[in-house]
Amino acid sequence: MSIHNKTIAQLSQGLKAGDFSSVELTQHYLDRINTSDLNAFITVTDELAMKQAQAADDKIAKGAGNILTGIPYAHKDIFCTNGVKTSAGSKMLDNFISPYDATVSHKLNQADLVMLGKANMDEFAMGSSNENSYFGDVKNPWNENKIPGGSSGGSAAAVAGRLAPFATGTDTGGSIRQPASLCGITGLKPTYGRVSRYGMIAYASSLDQAGPMTQTAHDAALVLNVMAGFDEKDSTSTERDVEDYTASLNDSIKGLTIGLPKEFFSEGLDDEVASQVMAAVKEFESMGATVKEVSLPNSAYAIPTYYIVAPCECSSNLSRLDGVRYGYRCDDPKDLEDLYLRSRSEGFGEEVKRRIMIGAYALSAGYYDAYYLKAQKTRHLISEDFKKAFKDVDVIMGPVSPTTAFDLGSVKDPVSMYLADIYTLSANLAGLPGMSIPAGFSQNLPVGLQLIGNYWSESKLLNIAHQFQQQTDWHTQTPEEKG
Ligand code: GLN
Repeated sequence: MSIHNKTIAQLSQGLKAGDFSSVELTQHYLDRINTSDLNAFITVTDELAMKQAQAADDKIAKGAGNILTGIPYAHKDIFCTNGVKTSAGSKMLDNFISPYDATVSHKLNQADLVMLGKANMDEFAMGSSNENSYFGDVKNPWNENKIPGGSSGGSAAAVAGRLAPFATGTDTGGSIRQPASLCGITGLKPTYGRVSRYGMIAYASSLDQAGPMTQTAHDAALVLNVMAGFDEKDSTSTERDVEDYTASLNDSIKGLTIGLPKEFFSEGLDDEVASQVMAAVKEFESMGATVKEVSLPNSAYAIPTYYIVAPCECSSNLSRLDGVRYGYRCDDPKDLEDLYLRSRSEGFGEEVKRRIMIGAYALSAGYYDAYYLKAQKTRHLISEDFKKAFKDVDVIMGPVSPTTAFDLGSVKDPVSMYLADIYTLSANLAGLPGMSIPAGFSQNLPVGLQLIGNYWSESKLLNIAHQFQQQTDWHTQTPEEKG
């Protein structure tokens, strides 16, 4: 097996056994990145990576370190990284060298991980196709004419294209799960509050949550062990102990009750995606699970609700980017107003501006009740639907995305793009954890299965995903071998 097809767990063993060093491993990935045309990275941090790899090797030589010591990864360019450009995919932050580390970046450093670079993404994490990046489109490793999904498209392409053993992602409305699904990898969005948002450039603060993007559920557990935890710098992070997420991977899932929301299998879902998802559910039945239909009646309102709440929050969050404190500033401003106006007009892309305008409008005095307040009420109803469903079932399953990866440039109007998020948004609105795991192919493009769990059920989700991955080999297939 080529070294780059190994999982984190396998690489870790190889490092400990001295089969290869972290320096060799890191160089191998850097070579792959530097000859790749996926455009998965905004910044490649070669020098830093080699330094970190050398430090990891020194630790391993002394018999010190942990299971992740010396493992390389791709870091979504939304996480602040001390001394390294942190652009969030935007021209606005093209010149921003972060003076501090996000908590997640800090934790990954503390675990002796090796950052290969900063992964490409939709500008400020707004998008479902990675076509909104100032740094260009990312290509899907399974077919380079297709989108990789978004907004963590660079992260997903890096893992699927074997440019990194794992990547970080963030998921505000599906941005870990949807690109994971379209690129055939494993992605986990934890419960809101599980991972610190400190230093993660804010899109919609009440929805944003970071998580791992990996080949396997086992690897996702290893990375979540490091990412998760209370942080006093993030007032929405939860004071709750971090479990060892690998501890229950091997538990039996006999007797598991799976809920299939009837609303997730209706109009708009591609037939082949539906049949792959149902085949995966059948596989679970053969492993001793039972299946029940459940209803999430308000999920029909997830798109309109999300596309009010998220723009409202982004219009507030992005107001700090005004050309004064940091970030892009227009040339020769006439006066202060001109400085604000042109810096923001020139620094932000189309989609970001659209959302700032929608958000500012929906929050304005005359419209606040009609839009923002209404959306918050609907959000509550969506959460209540899940509460009811989880009285009867242990996990909810369904598709991640209504279709497989579509052609680059083919979806032109924003509302059609928003429809791509139909199955992922509800979990964010409710704050629930969700996963995407590889569950088959349709015309040589990966199909993901979504798992949504109750609050704090990350261990259970990882257990379910791991058991599935013991029975199937969708997650081990690579574009290289298939292509
Ligand atoms: N596609 C959704 C959006 O454009 C979700 C993005 C995300 O999760 N960051 O907002």
